[in-house]
Amino acid sequence: MRRLFLVGCLCLAAAVRAEGLAVPTAAPGPATSTAAPAVTITEVLQRSQQQRLAQRGAADPLSAASQRVQASFDRLVAMLPPGEPARLVLVGGDLFAEAQFDGRSVAVSEAVGDLPEGERLLMLAHELGHVRLEHWAALDGLYRRFIPGEVRPETTDPVAAALGAQAHALSHRHEFEADAFGFTLVRKLGFGVENALRLLTRQGQQPDGATHPGTRRRLAQLRSLDAQLGHALVSPAADIAVAAGTR
Ligand SMILES: [Zn+2]
Repeated sequence: MRRLFLVGCLCLAAAVRAEGLAVPTAAPGPATSTAAPAVTITEVLQRSQQQRLAQRGAADPLSAASQRVQASFDRLVAMLPPGEPARLVLVGGDLFAEAQFDGRSVAVSEAVGDLPEGERLLMLAHELGHVRLEHWAALDGLYRRFIPGEVRPETTDPVAAALGAQAHALSHRHEFEADAFGFTLVRKLGFGVENALRLLTRQGQQPDGATHPGTRRRLAQLRSLDAQLGHALVSPAADIAVAAGTR
């Protein structure tokens, strides 16, 4: 069976995770068994994300590290333009942050509380960028355009290659946009490119991956943005427009 390529990870510093997810099919059984319910691609994407979170286990919300994550998150949310309230979901496991499919939550591991403040803020601000720029909705829309109905090999196999290529391109664009959004926000708090350099090289220089551009290109964008923001005096609204690539 061909495998439908799903891009589900929107995290900043964690290693690129691209999941090959087997397309679900009706379970084998006696001829009299009830057919498995139809599954849409949106449900597959949501389930994939929920499974990733479930594997991480729970965080201790009262730990000092969790409290630091919450404080940084609240600090950033207070700086955002008015909009849908963002919600923090603390999880266990190693360094991890991921915008959630509901379009308003960010799952963050307790371990992020052990990062230096600037790197923690940048990691969270990047994810808030994914939320505010509605990246999950765009990715979901792309998948649904290719697979509008039930997820079955007959509906996914013919489109897998074209969908994979477009999801790859869209994910890279989203990462650049979230980087710019997050960097612009955190720069206002006095954290510059060197802060981004430390965070993005924590796991070494990464090459271009399925979902994330390589470290070199991400840093190049931030250096260019830093130069733009460092020149003309711009309003906060204009800053965000720069981050979102709308000017
Ligand atoms: Zn991201």
